[in-house]
Amino acid sequence: MRFSELDRFRNRYPQLSSYIAAAEDYLQELLARPKPVEIVPSLVAQRLSVDEELVLSVLLLFDEAGIIEPRYQVRCSDSDGVLLEFKTLREIPERLYCPYHGRDHDRSDYYVELVFIFRPSTIERYSKALSGR
Ligand SMILES: [Zn+2]
Repeated sequence: MRFSELDRFRNRYPQLSSYIAAAEDYLQELLARPKPVEIVPSLVAQRLSVDEELVLSVLLLFDEAGIIEPRYQVRCSDSDGVLLEFKTLREIPERLYCPYHGRDHDRSDYYVELVFIFRPSTIERYSKALSGR
C-alpha cells in the first residue's frame, strides 16, 4: 500500500522516490503492529542502509505530508532514560528533573533525541487496513 499523501513529493523529488518507497514500507510495518511505535531515524537509516541525514530529509517529507510528527525526547546522558518529550525544540527548558538521579539536569547532563510518531489521523486511516483487522 502507498501513502497517497506522498504522491506530490514523489513527483517533485524523483531522485528520492526509491528512498521514500523504502521508508514507506518500513513505516507501514511499524503501523501494522498492534500498538504503533515511534520512528527512530537511526533505526530507519540502519534498515534502509543509508545515512541518517538522508533519512531525516525523507522523514521530514512524511512530516510535511501529515503522516508523522516530530517529538524531541530529552534523555538523561548517564542513564539514557527519557525525562520528557516536547513537540518543538523551543519548548525544552534549561533544567529538567531526572527521576533516575533524583535531581535536576541541565544541558550538560541531558541530551535531545529527535524521533517521530504517527499522527492520529494516519493511525485512523491506515493501521486497521495494514494489520488486516
Ligand atoms: Zn539522570
